[in-house]
Amino acid sequence: MTGIVIAIDGPAGTGKSTVSREVARRLGLAYFDTGATYRVATVCCLREGVDFKNHADVTAMIETMNVELILDPGNPRVTLEGQDVSSMIRSDTVALSVSQVSTNLDARAALGRFQREVIAGEVAGGFSDGAGVVVEGRDITTVIAPDADVRILMTADEEVRVARRAGDGADAATVREAVLGRDKKDATVVNFQTAADGVVTLDTTDMTIDEAVNAVIALAHEAQA
Ligand code: C5P
Repeated sequence: MTGIVIAIDGPAGTGKSTVSREVARRLGLAYFDTGATYRVATVCCLREGVDFKNHADVTAMIETMNVELILDPGNPRVTLEGQDVSSMIRSDTVALSVSQVSTNLDARAALGRFQREVIAGEVAGGFSDGAGVVVEGRDITTVIAPDADVRILMTADEEVRVARRAGDGADAATVREAVLGRDKKDATVVNFQTAADGVVTLDTTDMTIDEAVNAVIALAHEAQA
């Protein structure tokens, strides 16, 4: 038994991560940021000097890398070969390179297998009490967990998404590239801009975090009724 699975997809800057974490915290669920698996694979490639263009090498590296996820919504962490890389995976360098991993279909398949094991509670770092998990990403509602109890596509206007990320500190051109440029590359392999059948669209353009959190929790209650 894996408990409730709440799947949330969407592009960068919609508030997806903040909302997913807070929903998990309030409902006592695990929090799984699948983007972190793509980011940690990117760190591993950069560190080992693996050529992103060599799809087989990137995939082989993913299959052998030693990653541990701590799914605590209060303090989610990622380790690579025993080292905490939670901050490193958020760097601009990683954000600007990660699409080279996510557009590699063999790499997606390998990371997808790992993600399904995490959701099923089969790998270390999995949630302990079986209450369930909030999983966020780009293809969770469609490819990784299409049978999830709650499936949401979070959207927001482009300029709002860029402005939200700009608040994080980087220069304007880097922010635009890390939001819109990345979405454009990611969109070549996954559709996370229009909702698939049965997926609820949640437009956060004019919503506060709290309103978005409450909307997700309402859908979770509905699913369990
Ligand atoms: O969500 P986050 O911005 O951390 O995701 C980082 C990158 O990982 C995305 O830009 C995308 O390339 C990739 N990704 C993906 N599929 C997912 C989650 C993330 O392709 N389910």
